[in-house]
Amino acid sequence: MATIPWLVDVLRGAGVQVVVEGDWLNRMRPGSFDPIGVLWHHTASTSSASNPHPALGICINGRSDLPGPLCQALVDYNGVFHVISAGRCNHAGVSGGSGPIPSGDGNTLMIGWEIDYNGVNQEMTAAQYNASIAATAAVLTRLGRDSSYARGHRETSTTGKIDPSFIDLNVMRADVAAKMAGSGTAWSSTVDNTTAGRFTASASWGVSTYSSQRYGADYRYADPVAASDPAWYRFNVPAAGNYRVEAWWPTNSGYNSATPYIVATSSGNRTVYVDQRATGGQWRVLGTFALPAGDANRVAVSRWSNATGLVIADAVRLTRV
Ligand SMILES: [Zn+2]
Repeated sequence: MATIPWLVDVLRGAGVQVVVEGDWLNRMRPGSFDPIGVLWHHTASTSSASNPHPALGICINGRSDLPGPLCQALVDYNGVFHVISAGRCNHAGVSGGSGPIPSGDGNTLMIGWEIDYNGVNQEMTAAQYNASIAATAAVLTRLGRDSSYARGHRETSTTGKIDPSFIDLNVMRADVAAKMAGSGTAWSSTVDNTTAGRFTASASWGVSTYSSQRYGADYRYADPVAASDPAWYRFNVPAAGNYRVEAWWPTNSGYNSATPYIVATSSGNRTVYVDQRATGGQWRVLGTFALPAGDANRVAVSRWSNATGLVIADAVRLTRV
């Protein structure tokens, strides 16, 4: 993903008041952008009813020591989202890793909201809080991520950032989760091969960055063998019910035409075969399955294919239906 041109529509669809700030679709930093989460900040500027967005110019144009844009959107005193950029921005610096957000280039990994309050003797307004919750819920839904993918800058910073202050980030995430549930948004969770604690594969599975159709940083591959040696994806399924299971793989003519995906359902394992020579770089539906509640290995890619070509394990997504 190079840009998020859907941002304005998604925010408006969530009832968030939006002001588009000029050429937001083309205003961005050079470099990679493949966001999996949202990062909350405060600007350290003092806003007020008469001066609702004192940091807007800086967020668009940057500072002498840091070129703009400095966030994808600024949230003003009244809770209005000023959308600045559809691409990479200088807001996050290096991520030290927090929750499901890995360590690495924070400006690649996250979309930033700069909430315009000073954070020293001024807390965010109720309007800013409510708009930030609604916007974050809508964007995470669009990204196919749960509320744990919203973080505060002080959680990911490696340089001692304190923002956003005067807020309990666990409470803020819980409010995002409630918003996602209450808006009728289906529970959805994505596990990539790099998701910490949720993917396991033997050393027979190599790591590749060869295809640009990959999901996230890289993917795993293995030769087909007459043995399962599966790569497992673990999910914390919130309740017994029916879930849509989707998989993402990069395509290559040298990949396997009959890769087995195993879904551990409430009534035993089901196997779905996919052609990984085609339709890569997107979510593909494997089917809808009854799953039990609980945190367990739920979907696997098996090496047991009769076809030739590498079997690929990249990302899997569950969505309650
Ligand atoms: Zn910050």
